[in-house]
Amino acid sequence: MTNTKYIFVVGGVMSSVGKGVTASSIGAILQGRGYKVTNIKCDMYVNIDAGTIRPTEHGEVFIGEDGIEADQDLGNYERFTGNPMSSLNYITTGQVYQEVIRRERNLEYGGEDVEVVPDVPNEIIRRIKMAAKKNEAEIAVVEFGGTVGEYQVLLFLEAARIMKVKHQRDVAFVLVSYLPLPKHVGEMKTKPTQYAVRTLNAAGIMADFIVARGERALDNRRRDILANVCNLLDGTVIAAPDVDSIYDVPLQFHAQNFDGRLLRTLHLRARKNDLQAWKTFSKKIRGLKKSMKIAIVGKYFGTGDFTLADSYISVIEAIKHGAWDRGVKPELTWIDSETYEQTPNRLQELSTFDAIIVPGGFGTRGIEGIISAIRFVREHNIPYLGLCYGMQLASIEFARTVLHLAGANTVECDPQSPYPIIHVNPQQAKNIRENRYGATMRLGAYRCVLKKGSQTQKLYKADEISERHRHRYEFNNEYRERMEQAGFEIVGVNPETNLAEIIELKNHPYFIGTQFHPEFKSRPLRPHPLFVGLVAAALEQQKKR
Ligand code: GLN
Repeated sequence: MTNTKYIFVVGGVMSSVGKGVTASSIGAILQGRGYKVTNIKCDMYVNIDAGTIRPTEHGEVFIGEDGIEADQDLGNYERFTGNPMSSLNYITTGQVYQEVIRRERNLEYGGEDVEVVPDVPNEIIRRIKMAAKKNEAEIAVVEFGGTVGEYQVLLFLEAARIMKVKHQRDVAFVLVSYLPLPKHVGEMKTKPTQYAVRTLNAAGIMADFIVARGERALDNRRRDILANVCNLLDGTVIAAPDVDSIYDVPLQFHAQNFDGRLLRTLHLRARKNDLQAWKTFSKKIRGLKKSMKIAIVGKYFGTGDFTLADSYISVIEAIKHGAWDRGVKPELTWIDSETYEQTPNRLQELSTFDAIIVPGGFGTRGIEGIISAIRFVREHNIPYLGLCYGMQLASIEFARTVLHLAGANTVECDPQSPYPIIHVNPQQAKNIRENRYGATMRLGAYRCVLKKGSQTQKLYKADEISERHRHRYEFNNEYRERMEQAGFEIVGVNPETNLAEIIELKNHPYFIGTQFHPEFKSRPLRPHPLFVGLVAAALEQQKKR
């Protein structure tokens, strides 16, 4: 058995160039060569986890199996490699300092003075190694957030440098850089990348590979310049031009033998060469002609640095996976529910869509607009999938319209509601009173038993499933019987707590709401049944029109 190998993926020039997709694709191609891989993300935030960062600020909060509230990159790792993520795979500056200080308080440093160097890098190394070991990985792909040259990355780079010194043959560095193509020049410029490499050198690290992101593919001339100036071997500057689908990146890398070169750098031998599943998949989606219109109705705050697409990346990817599986390309439209509050006539536009999704969310703004939209799709037989808040609001709409419970609501929006269809358990109420918001929601994977013969059970082809959650409020079982008598069925229940996890309407072509987030477990090569089901139902409806 060889030592565990580590590939550090760091960014140069600017952020948002696709480091996450690069790290994920590296994972995928090395799995294709027969190695057990794990992906780890190191985030520079002092936040302990991403749960306390606004999604419009930082992108989606991805939930791992054990309930870790992590950076959205973990979603890509999982989608590309199929390996379920947990808290081991997510390291933040906050976690590292918290542990160092905890140990200091417990006298675990035995009276030594505790210093930023080496104690902080040592803790980073300990966490990286532990993540690799507990995931039983032969190769760990470790991505650092941010870009080289930022002050906050330094201690992480120092940790990586120490690992390279101690394990010369087991560590490789990949710099993901950006090559701008200024319009007035008309060619890709390598200089910013050269500076990024120098900055990395100043931290004592030599890049083994450069992944050259850019609008176009890097030509040989510039490949040679970069290799020369940056001390790189032949074949280690990898062109990574923009692609239509991120799922083509593993094939793009493989075509340049990035996998082979990585193995050689790490002194490993290829065990197989199998990317067939990706090839078949890529070919299939390339050939798709027919499209389908899907609207996502939600409440949106002013967006900061991140776009909506980042805030809901797992939902978007899950829709694509489901649509591709059924042979169609999804055309997504974002609808701000507040427009329906201001101009109710606009609800009619919902008839022009093949399917509607209401994703997760928090707080009061825009929810009356969402509830009107849900009423419209329920009454007009438009296929509907409600994710978390989308399930809760569907329950409220049904209670208000069908059971005539005026003022029915979630206590999140109306604590005095006469009919609290969505309520809060005593522990959660205590958390809210005491301002305990970090990692206190109902988080991570829970079991769910499905009702025999339900549409949901048929789609899952299983009697019991496990899905990931992130919510504080839940369906109030006091209303269960009345709702069910009126055709609103609870078809998925957590066996330990009896909490309602899935609702389904009788007499509707497709109306399903989940208290969990199915989108976190959808993968391109294994689409999620509820998204596949939504698209299939929408295709049926199309035929009828
Ligand atoms: N705001 C709701 C809750 O906390 C739903 C959360 C969500 O959609 N993720 O229960």
